[in-house]
Parts: sequence; C-alpha cells; structure tokens
Amino acid sequence: MHGLIIDTTNQPWEESRGFQLAELERPSLDEAHNSDDASSVIVKVKYAGVCGSDRGLWYRNAFKDQFLAALERDKKPSRVVGHEFVGEVVEVGSKVNSLYWDPDPKNVAKIEVGSLVSGDSHVTCGKCYQCRLGEANVCMNEAILGITIDGIFAQYVKLPAKNLWAMDSSRIRPEVAAIMDPFGNAIHALSKVDVRGQRVAIFGAGPIGLFSVLIAQKFGAAKVIAVDVSAANLELAKRCGADETILIEPSEKANAWEHDTSVIERIRELTYGKGVDVSMEMAGPASSVNNAIDSTRRGGHVILFGVKDGDMTIPHFPRLIVAGLTIHCVIGREIFKTWQLSQRVLSQTSNGVQDKVWNVILNGGKDTVLNLSEFDPAVFEQTMNEHPKLIFNMEM
Ligand SMILES: [Zn+2]
Ligand SMILES: [Zn+2]
Repeated sequence: MHGLIIDTTNQPWEESRGFQLAELERPSLDEAHNSDDASSVIVKVKYAGVCGSDRGLWYRNAFKDQFLAALERDKKPSRVVGHEFVGEVVEVGSKVNSLYWDPDPKNVAKIEVGSLVSGDSHVTCGKCYQCRLGEANVCMNEAILGITIDGIFAQYVKLPAKNLWAMDSSRIRPEVAAIMDPFGNAIHALSKVDVRGQRVAIFGAGPIGLFSVLIAQKFGAAKVIAVDVSAANLELAKRCGADETILIEPSEKANAWEHDTSVIERIRELTYGKGVDVSMEMAGPASSVNNAIDSTRRGGHVILFGVKDGDMTIPHFPRLIVAGLTIHCVIGREIFKTWQLSQRVLSQTSNGVQDKVWNVILNGGKDTVLNLSEFDPAVFEQTMNEHPKLIFNMEM
C-alpha cells in the first residue's frame, strides 16, 4: 500500500520540505503479540483532509520538536502524516464490540466491518485525570495522528476503536465527513460563548475561520465580521454569510505584534463605537491576537484558537483585566460531544451549512479533491496555496 510520509533520513528538518509518496507495509491486527490490537481496527481510508498543520509540516515551520522527539522515541526515521479522514472499517479486534452499548440496538453507532468512520486526531489515553473528568481534549498522554504517531495519509491505517465516530453517508457526504475534525474545532470554539444576538468578529478566514462564520450565523449571531489579509478568503467568508469583511492592509508598524489600527477603527464603526461582544482569533500571529483583544468591547469574550510558535506581546496588559475581558483558549474537540453537535449541524440539510462547506469552502470539489495516486509535490504545493481546503481521494 502507499502513503505520504516525512522521511528525516539524511534530511535536516530545516533544509527539507514536502511529503513523499512511499510504499508502506499494510498494518494488521495481531492480538497474540499486541494486546491493544484487540480494541483496534483497520480502516481503509477513503478521503483525507489537508489541514493547516499539514501545511506547517510541509514547510517545516511547525511541530518540529514534537515530531522529531516522537521519531526518536520510536527509533524510526519517517512518519506517515495526515489526521483528517473518513474511511471504511475492514478489520476489527475481538474486544471492539464490547466498547459500545445502547439499550436500543438500532441506535448504537457500532464500529464493525463495513462501518464508515471518521475520528478524532487526538488519540487520548482514557486513564489520566483529565480523561477521567471527561476532558479528553486536554489528555496528559495524548498522541496526535500524523505528528507523534503515524497518521492517515495512507491507504490503510490501524486506529484504536474508541477514537472513531461512525458516520452516516446518507446524511453527510464523505468528502465533508473527512473534515469533521477541523469543523469540530469551530463548533468547539463557538460552544464557549452563547453568540445569540451577539456581534462577532472572526480574525483569520482560513478553513476553520470560514467554518466559524457559517456556525456563528447558524447559532444566531446578530452580526458576523470576518477579517483577513487575503481578499480571496474574504470573498469566501462573504459567500459563507459574513455580514461584513475587513481586509488587513499592510501598514507601518514599529513591531510586528502591534494591532492594525484601521481594523480596530472599522470594527468600532460597525459596532456603533462599542467593539464586538465576541472575537475569535483563528489565525495565530501576535498582531491578530492583539486585533482580537482590542476590538472586543468591555466585558466581552476573546476566543483564542490560532497557534504560532514563539513569544507573544500584549501591550498594556492590565487593560484586559480593567476591561473585564474573558479569554477562552480552545484546543481540539470535546470528545465526543463536539462530534455529535457537528453531525447535527451538518446533517440538518435545510440550514445550508453542509452545502456551503462543499460548494464554497471545498469549491464543489473542483480542483480541491486530489488523487493520492497522482501525487506530485509541485502541483500539490501550488494547489494548497490556491485553495483554503484540499481533500485527498485515497483510492489508488
Ligand atoms: Zn487538522
Ligand atoms: Zn488522558
């Protein structure tokens, strides 16, 4: 079978780039030698989403320490990348059936041979303090698919059954099911605050920012403002239902982390001088974090999701406290509460969310669904830079 890997053999991290298509050994279940296999499954991957974090790995500008430390731990030079997927279960361990229970056997989202499944990219331990409290998204022993353990840009993959979420292809098309994981990031972020009747500014209109525009609207926000450095992304944000868009123009700033004055002024204008009730930072740069903070009204909420390596400067920090802001940091998804909510939002076809995800964010599949069998690094890199979201068709 084939898959996409990062191979560090003779290739220093900073001097390399991209993924390579490699011939890999097909995983199998071997309960006699590995007791964990009893609660694992083999999934034949159908579609796989390309994430912003995959872009970070492609250019080697994110996850270096985690990625290399995990290779060192496993004493191997290469890793299969990728973590957003939908696929078909082709083999199950002997204990998998005992992991699910429902009084009505028809309701059980069973994981069995033939099930269509997606799953969380954070493979959690189930044993630590946080996991036992039902907060597995902050598990102390989590592994991350495609970063600290082998990922899913492969034709077949072995996964713990407890990490999987059964999908119904009659309700959610498989290409959209493949990106339930990042869609869930936006759902999770928007479950931090009740946005009904609120004015919401979303900083960063990449895929998760665009999902947030769609969801904020459907959750009843009174006004959604999207902010980005790309006019093309803002056009997509409009098509997703943003009421207003603000293009960040390059400006003279003494420090890169400083907020963009014109953005803050425009948001004040759009909110009758008050600032937004809720701001969502979905991009990561320090200037964007300051834009989010400085455009939020006194007593408002700032939701931080974007991640960028390095230090952060927040000028005049005490004003956050004096203004009574509430800061929320969002990581991953609530497993599986977020998945349930995501499924409901996407399968309610009358709300138009799934159609927008497919027709706008995934461009109706035009140029955004790539065949793994035709993988060409140069073409892939160019396409990745032209579309906010790409999907691999994993059929070889
Ligand atoms: Zn992702
Ligand atoms: Zn845990």
